[in-house]
Amino acid sequence: MKVFKSLCLFLALTASSELFSQEPDSVLISRIYREALTNTWSYNVLKQLCKEAPHRLAGSEGSLKAVHLMYQKLLPVADTVYLQEVTAKRWLRGKKEEIEIIADGKRRKIPGLALGGSIGTGDKGIRAQVIEVQGIEELAKIGREKIQGKIVFFNLAMDPMDMSPGRQYGKAGSQRFNGAEKAAYYGACGTLVRSLSNSLSEYPHTGIMRYVDSIPKIPAVAISTIEAENLSKQLKENPRVEVSMKTWCSVPPNEKSYNVIAEIRGSERPEEIITVGGHIDSWDVGEGAHDDGAGCMHSMEVLRIIKTLGIKTKRTIRVVLFMDEEMYQVGGQRYAQWVKERNEKIYAAIESDSGGAMPVGFGCSASDKQFAGFLDIKPLFEPYGVKLFRNGGGGTDIRFLGELHVPLMNLIPEPQRYFEFHHSANDTFEKISFRELQLGCATMAAMVVMLDLKDSFN
Ligand SMILES: [Zn+2]
Repeated sequence: MKVFKSLCLFLALTASSELFSQEPDSVLISRIYREALTNTWSYNVLKQLCKEAPHRLAGSEGSLKAVHLMYQKLLPVADTVYLQEVTAKRWLRGKKEEIEIIADGKRRKIPGLALGGSIGTGDKGIRAQVIEVQGIEELAKIGREKIQGKIVFFNLAMDPMDMSPGRQYGKAGSQRFNGAEKAAYYGACGTLVRSLSNSLSEYPHTGIMRYVDSIPKIPAVAISTIEAENLSKQLKENPRVEVSMKTWCSVPPNEKSYNVIAEIRGSERPEEIITVGGHIDSWDVGEGAHDDGAGCMHSMEVLRIIKTLGIKTKRTIRVVLFMDEEMYQVGGQRYAQWVKERNEKIYAAIESDSGGAMPVGFGCSASDKQFAGFLDIKPLFEPYGVKLFRNGGGGTDIRFLGELHVPLMNLIPEPQRYFEFHHSANDTFEKISFRELQLGCATMAAMVVMLDLKDSFN
């Protein structure tokens, strides 16, 4: 009897796994999309992340809250969940910035955000005349004499006629990243930077900046695109306009922090791992909904869908919510180092860090043979509007795996609106569309499952 029962069980199992393996890829993908599009789990988790743990700069209270919240959320959808310790270097904005335009004896307050990593001015503040430049290259042409003692106003706009916002950001980015260092080299006492946004709005957008040790450190503050336009106009009428800046940034001691890691173990080749992730930290304004709560959801939902649909992946699927993408990338570095120490085989790494809008494609950096495998599965995604399979991909956190020759990929959402939200108080949960977020989740899950099923990167 017992033998008979086992035989029946064996036959039933073979039949069902046979059935499963015979299921056309397109049917499996449609089941994945249907599951994502009819379930509110990740949308609700994102809401909780945004509302209960906003302001998630590495080492902050918000970031630790987020770590523990996401750990709890991942427990029911993964086989194992763990925290990987990292040391977070910190930066604190402190009191709200006070920025004033002073002209003809009148003072006008405008909103400003100190750039991440900037020194503060303290109560004393700085007050000086302003010199406008279009990017760091102009500094050399203008020269020390005209820059010395002034506040340099970097007003290079993101090019509205470039249809790639990512490229616009890349081209205008240096004024934020090392504008202060370059301006200080010519004797400036501070910098105002036009926000890296391609929309005209009242929101200032922050972001990381760096100093070099050999050049004096001067404070750097972002102003909104609208105020940048206003200031530029005002300076043309009256070059003697002054700006007063007060900021209270500081560097508190390092804090212990964590990457959040969750896995579903592979059924045939568990030692091969597909890493999928986003970053759990965010700027200290807004709620980090698009940057990068959405990317965390795209990744976490992969596990939930695999579990819910009972999909048996051959390989281990590992979600990593990286700590500290925004400032020093300690999470990404720690993860790659750990992979190396354990001599793990990462079959592929996919990052989502471009917002929660409608997914349109993937980028992929891999060998020619692997890239051909990536292109082979493209037709399966076309019915869902995911048509861009681009050569060149990766992400800030997973790039450290590149030196281990891991194929690197990224999810590409529709990019035109991303810089309305990015690094600003405008990046809130309300700016997320349920439908678009879930399409991103489905697309990510379908990609992970297909890479595994089709052995795309063998
Ligand atoms: Zn990001």
